[in-house]
Amino acid sequence: MKTPLLQFTDNGIYCKKANVYLDPWKPVDHAIISHGHADHSRYGHKKYITHHRNVPIIQHRLGEINVTGKEWGETFDVNNVKFSLHPAGHILGSSQIRVEYKGEGKTSILFGYSLGKAQRLLKYLNTDIGEIYTHGAIENMTEVLRPLVDFPKTTLITRETKKEQLLGNIVLAPPSAHGSTWIRKMVPYVTASASGWMTFRGARRRRAIDKGFVLSDHCDWGGLLESIEATGADKIICTHGYTDIFSKYLREQGYDARTEATQYGEEETEAALASKSTASV
Ligand SMILES: [Zn+2]
Repeated sequence: MKTPLLQFTDNGIYCKKANVYLDPWKPVDHAIISHGHADHSRYGHKKYITHHRNVPIIQHRLGEINVTGKEWGETFDVNNVKFSLHPAGHILGSSQIRVEYKGEGKTSILFGYSLGKAQRLLKYLNTDIGEIYTHGAIENMTEVLRPLVDFPKTTLITRETKKEQLLGNIVLAPPSAHGSTWIRKMVPYVTASASGWMTFRGARRRRAIDKGFVLSDHCDWGGLLESIEATGADKIICTHGYTDIFSKYLREQGYDARTEATQYGEEETEAALASKSTASV
């Protein structure tokens, strides 16, 4: 049977491949410590790794120890096993410990509109995890914005790009690329979409996306109501999105609200309209 990446032993939770223990209860050579409570931070380990905010806490408890502090999301390697610490929401410096060996061997494809969502994703992406490759539409728009915003490095996918280069890395692509031959050439991959629509149940399933993240360039329900209140407007005309539901709600709140049909829509729809009109010229 294959040895699991983590196993319970008499000393504590053990990662054999790295020869590292997580919050061990008996003295070991190499310990990664999740947080400063006494049941997790024990005496006698030769080396401690923990979040830097936990360093003064465990030094206070344990005195002179050999300890290294890490930042959230910082990946560190022990015998080719990748570890990183992520906030656990317990006490100061408390961490979830991520352990990865040899990765998933897949390309992570993240969908987002080429103007707006893609650049927001770029700002948020943890570049320690892998390199960021882009679809042409996103690369071009990002280049336009680069003088204004400090984005991480991106690499345009070209005909010469081998799919092996992409494995374990991130690809940013516009939603229109979903299901295209361009994407299918990247097998094996996992897909994710960042959209405000992810808040609606079933949106992810309908689009056949593996993972969904809620990320919107627009106000949410609460944000819209706050904005309306802040402007002091008494007449509101709804033009985008769930206009009927929202204007009905506003009328119930005593506003003079109605909808107006416009040609506004999603970025992609605009692009499709533009290309249609070009085609018909
Ligand atoms: Zn605790």
